[in-house]
Amino acid sequence: MSKKDYYEVLEVPKNATKDEIKKAYRQHALKYHPDRNPGDKAAEEKFKEAAEAYEVLSDDEKRARYDRYGHAGVGGASGAGGFGGGGMSMEDIFSHFGDIFGGHFGGFGFGSSSYQGQRVSKGQNLRVKVKLTLEEIATGVEKKIKVNKYVQCSSCNGSGAAKGSSHTTCSTCHGQGVVTKITNTFLGQMQSTSPCPSCGGEGKIITQKCTRCYGEGIVKEDEIITIKIPAGVAEGMQMTVQGKGNAARRGGINGDMIVTFAEEKHPELLRDGNDLYFSLFVTFPVAALGGTVEVPTLEGKVKIKIEPGTQPGKLLRLKGKGLPEVNGYGKGDLLVHINVWIPKNLTKDERRIIEKFAESSNFDPKPEKDEKNFFEKIRNLFE
Ligand SMILES: [Zn+2]
Ligand SMILES: [Zn+2]
Repeated sequence: MSKKDYYEVLEVPKNATKDEIKKAYRQHALKYHPDRNPGDKAAEEKFKEAAEAYEVLSDDEKRARYDRYGHAGVGGASGAGGFGGGGMSMEDIFSHFGDIFGGHFGGFGFGSSSYQGQRVSKGQNLRVKVKLTLEEIATGVEKKIKVNKYVQCSSCNGSGAAKGSSHTTCSTCHGQGVVTKITNTFLGQMQSTSPCPSCGGEGKIITQKCTRCYGEGIVKEDEIITIKIPAGVAEGMQMTVQGKGNAARRGGINGDMIVTFAEEKHPELLRDGNDLYFSLFVTFPVAALGGTVEVPTLEGKVKIKIEPGTQPGKLLRLKGKGLPEVNGYGKGDLLVHINVWIPKNLTKDERRIIEKFAESSNFDPKPEKDEKNFFEKIRNLFE
């Protein structure tokens, strides 16, 4: 099936503006509208062609692809992948009319397919914030959260009707859930539909309302919800638990629960992405002679070795002692930043010993090249 050029279909130049395209489409749609050409297959074909051309040319991205690759670029040649190929259905075309003509038209009395009648209602989403410690983040955790939310009324099982009561068909919409309004226009009669105001679109009315939920089918209650939180989450991340939000009025589907994570400050460790930092103070003798010290990790304290002659500012990397990647593999590290503690108050004896140290020329600073480069060190700290 060969296709006509979209610009030719709408009779617009290749460089037509969006407004010109819209205007051209409106004219074609009115001219070939089925209501004005009853039973005219050729007009219906032109009507569809115009809608298809507009669908592509009104969309910047699709238009660019069409300009470059022709019908193949918008799926028109193969007919595969949604739009194109077999053309648009009348329902598709009418569903877009609101954009073109404004207002809510049910399709000019043709098909009236834009309103689907009774809708399934969805309950409100429920938002909760969960505080987590770094230890909980490291392993993942199961949390029980108490929430106050709408749940299905147990007295009426969510129907909203009292025991022994029944539903009667709504007399306003005769059970259709929608009301139709007919307006006379130059095009003939136009039909618009909207949800029925008497029954709220449900098509039926309860004869006697449930006394517990006042006919709503839902009541507010406390509920304990257990959620599984994966390891590696971070402050501000969100997780959606489907169906754990508020129940909907009279038997719709539940909303979702949206959990936002907050991170509690750790007393000793600082988080940076998946890495952790610890600021370690060692004594001067340990820095000079070497030794073993304890550092905290999220799995408890571990002992680490300090090499003789360790300088303050040195960064020790404990591989894999950081936090796990969320939804992935691998773990961050724990970086231990070494400080040397200088006593603030000295006894007479201590003073004398340090003065003796000072006399030794071995205590003159002799930094090695990499220790001298201050900026390099700072960069390493934050890499
Ligand atoms: Zn009704
Ligand atoms: Zn009830």
